[in-house]
Formats: sequence, C-alpha cells, structure tokens
Amino acid sequence: MNNPQISIVAPLYNERESFPHLIERLNRLMDSSPLSIEVVLVDDGSRDNTPELMQALALSDARYHCVFLSRNHGHQLALTAGLASALGTEAIMVIDGDLQDPPELLNEFYEHYKNGYDVVYAVRKKRKENFIKKTGYFLFYRLLRSISYVDIPLDSGDFSLMSRKVVNILNKMPEESRYIRGMRSWIGFKQIGVEYERDERMAGESKYSFKQLFNLAYNGIFNFSEFPIKFVTRLGFSAILMAVIYFIWVVIKKFYFQEVIEGFASLLFAIILFSGVQLIALGVIGEYVLRVFFQSKNRPLFILRGEIKNKEFV
Ligand code: UDP
Ligand code: MG
Repeated sequence: MNNPQISIVAPLYNERESFPHLIERLNRLMDSSPLSIEVVLVDDGSRDNTPELMQALALSDARYHCVFLSRNHGHQLALTAGLASALGTEAIMVIDGDLQDPPELLNEFYEHYKNGYDVVYAVRKKRKENFIKKTGYFLFYRLLRSISYVDIPLDSGDFSLMSRKVVNILNKMPEESRYIRGMRSWIGFKQIGVEYERDERMAGESKYSFKQLFNLAYNGIFNFSEFPIKFVTRLGFSAILMAVIYFIWVVIKKFYFQEVIEGFASLLFAIILFSGVQLIALGVIGEYVLRVFFQSKNRPLFILRGEIKNKEFV
C-alpha cells in the first residue's frame, strides 16, 4: 500500500467514552474526502479499555494506524510519538481525541497548505469551558507572548496541520521537555492562523490533571523565554537600589534630625522580604538546572509497547 497523503494524529488517554464518537466523525471525514488519509491513534498508557478498542479497529480497518506507549507519558510526548509514526507524505494534522478540535477543518487547512503554507494552526475564537480555566488560559497566552523570544500566536494550541517538511524537523528536535506549539512556531516557514470555535469535550472528563496543565505552562515559559532569569537579576538590582536609598534616608535622619530609626520591625521586614526573593531566585535557577539535568540523560522521549499498521502488528 502506498503511503497516504495525510495523517491525522490523535493522542488518547482513557478515552473510552469519546472513542466511538471520534471514530464516527473520522470515518465520515475520510469517506467524503478525495484525499488519502490515515489516522494515527496513540494510546498514552490508558487504564481503561481504549487500547482494546483501538486494536480491534486497527486490525479490521487499514486506514487506522495505532501506536501504543509503554505507560502514560503525557499528552505532548504522546503527540511526539504520533508525529514520529505518521506516514503522511504531504501533511500531518494534529487533533485532540475528545473532539474539541473538529477534524472536518482538514479541508480548509489543506487549502492553505496547497497555497504554500507549511503550518496552518487553529486559533480559538471561543472556548466553551468554565470561567476559571478560560481566564487562566487567556492570561497565560498573553503573558507567554509578551515574554517569549519566539513569536507564539495567541490562543492557539496543538491543533494544526503541518507539512511533512515541518514534521521531519520536529521529529529531529531532541528536546525532552516539549512544548510543541512553541517548537512549531520556532521552526518558522510560512504559517497562518485559522479561527475556529473550540467545542466542548464530547464525552468523559478532561484527562489533563491540574499538575500536567501547570507543567505545560511552565514548559512554555521556561523553554521559550529568558525572562524568568533576567527578571531575577532585575529584582536583585532593584533590591540593592532600595537598600541604598533606605540607607541614605537613615543617615539623613540621624545627622540632620537627630532621630534614630526604630529598627526591629524594618529589620524583620527586610529579612523576610529578601529571604523570599532569594528562594524564588533559587527556584528559577532550579527550573533551568532541572531542564539541563533531564536533557543530559539523553533518554528516548517515549517507549513503544506496540504498533498496528496495515491491519498487522509490527
Ligand atoms: N491526553 C494524553 N495523555 C495525557 C493527558 C491527555 O494523551 O496524559 C490526551 C487526551 O486523551 C486528549 C488530549 O490529550 O485526547 C487532550 O486532553 P484533554 O482533553 O483531557 O485536555 P483539555 O482539553 O481538558 O485541556
Ligand atoms: Mg479536551
């Protein structure tokens, strides 16, 4: 069988409930599309019966190409595994397995690809999620954009279509703490955003834990910005400046007004303030050291437990 033109990659972690909906939508899309399409489903070490559902499907339908990870590696690494396994010769589309990203946008994305764009990313016009999450996302993307040295577009996630050329480059990038939407921007070439309304999750609960979400945000900030470390330096300089001004004030008070400053409260204040500042500074340095530490191990990014391609285990 010839390799397909397009791969659609979707990572799945305990997606038993949304699985049938996902397959139905993808089948409909593939049946109606003139393009040759494969779907790469990645099982991210699910604990429910998602892998069994995937296996049964891939053994009976050659359009489905399934990859199984050895354990839960997290969304970004599951995506990395999917991109590394995808066979699409022209372009690869990335979607979430819970149908929050409508796969039908493939046609529109593909048009842009045909017009010479290497990356077509989706921009969320509206988000149907709770207020706290929405506000968090809103603030985070604006913060990241203002401090990043890469031009990362606002309100766009991993949902995108990337040319084979861009995916080959992504596959060669060895970084361990992956923030794929940032890496995608960093790569460059012609990129374009397409607005869409992000739907609600089709079924089941969000599989991103609070901790994972925070980690992702951290990766965005620490991997694509020098701001935290520069900020600490600036904080240090401002502290020194404040101390100098305060010292001058004390001297003036003593010699011109013969007043002695009462020391206890201000001393305590200074100690607590600067202990806090120092701990934050250590933490910021620690974030960078941690990243160097993990990267220096040079471990593979993910481990495969199995793969089904063309209705066969490989
Ligand atoms: N996911 C994954 N591994 C994880 C967590 C999530 O592969 O450890 C998948 C999940 O199955 C879904 C996609 O990543 O297809 C997005 O996750 P989710 O919808 O839970 O995140 P949210 O949309 O709530 O941010
Ligand atoms: Mg979701």
